[in-house]
Amino acid sequence: MAGHWRAFVISTSEDLLRQSIIEYLSIGPDDPERSRKLQRRALEVTEREVGRRVYYRGIIEFSNICSCDCLYCGIRASNRNVSLRYELDEDQILSDAMWCAANGYGSLVLQSGERQDHGFIERVARIIERIKRESRSERQPEGLGITLSIGEQSREVYRRLFAAGAHRYLLRIESSNKALFSSIHPPTQSYERRVDALRDLKECGFQLGSGVMIGLPGQSIDMLADDILFFRKMDLDMIGMGPYIVHPDSPMSPEGMMDSESLLMLSLHMIAAARIVLKDVNIAATTALQALVPDGRERGLTYGANVTMPNVTPSSVRSAYQLYAGKPCLEERKEECYGCLAGRMRSIDREVGLYDWGDAPHATRGRKALRR
Ligand code: SAH
Repeated sequence: MAGHWRAFVISTSEDLLRQSIIEYLSIGPDDPERSRKLQRRALEVTEREVGRRVYYRGIIEFSNICSCDCLYCGIRASNRNVSLRYELDEDQILSDAMWCAANGYGSLVLQSGERQDHGFIERVARIIERIKRESRSERQPEGLGITLSIGEQSREVYRRLFAAGAHRYLLRIESSNKALFSSIHPPTQSYERRVDALRDLKECGFQLGSGVMIGLPGQSIDMLADDILFFRKMDLDMIGMGPYIVHPDSPMSPEGMMDSESLLMLSLHMIAAARIVLKDVNIAATTALQALVPDGRERGLTYGANVTMPNVTPSSVRSAYQLYAGKPCLEERKEECYGCLAGRMRSIDREVGLYDWGDAPHATRGRKALRR
């Protein structure tokens, strides 16, 4: 095919795809019939591409100390109202991780505010090494899978953390629209740098996760459709998206926010659209969905998500890690979250993939599953 003709065909099929994503995202709460149809289609793709199993990633929010000032975020550096700035000590993190291992959560996510200081990075590397070493068992000989979510770092740091034993990394683009990205971040943060960080992560060997917030002021359906095309272009393995929820200390104006029913539908339709377009990736039903309605995460799973992240952060610090208002389960202990979640999975007739990393087929297809 001549070059210009091929370019024409590619751009036309991309336009058609974009158009169909826009159609999915335009289905409102007043059209349950079309929403159910989209849901059925997303579920079909889910079953075919990644199976019916749901994988758990126990999330440990191990520090809320942050040097960034993202305008939407409750733990931003300049928020003086955070009740306590904390960093869990290594033994505490290890004991939470071992609890995950003992209960069959095959992977965990270590998440924190963003910091680049050497001491912090070294502590993270050390704890990864300890978790990898100590969580090996007969049922899971490679130990827990470890996902990091600690923001933008240098390529050297990514290499160091990968070598320590983490094999997945989550770094949301927040919005792939440059102007919108700039409007929700201070001028010290740049869209280009974020995209470079995503490329660096992939180059360093990580399975790569990213995502956006849904319902940001100034965000249009077209921008969300472009977000999904961006995920495809970046060849992501994992997607984590959730509704934007105002934090009372945020300098962002709540004006023009969607009502929570529309926001929930739009979030579910984003999950479904991502599943249909991206197919064999892992998609998380995020906690923020549950801040909108009590069964928000289960609903996410019935619209194409296949991963969920039970909170295993010690209850003593949970309330200090509030990225947004109304974060659920602040009083609960991890044992309670465990029992609660098992019931929730039964309610939607989904099996849980225990003692298994649950890597996305997208990440392992064509190459042997990464084993350490
Ligand atoms: N410091 C890490 C982890 C950030 S918290 C990092 O920068 O990657 C994880 C995610 O929570 C963010 O990427 C953001 O998308 C989401 N988040 C933060 N504030 C939020 C809010 N007010 N509503 C919804 N999601 C929010």
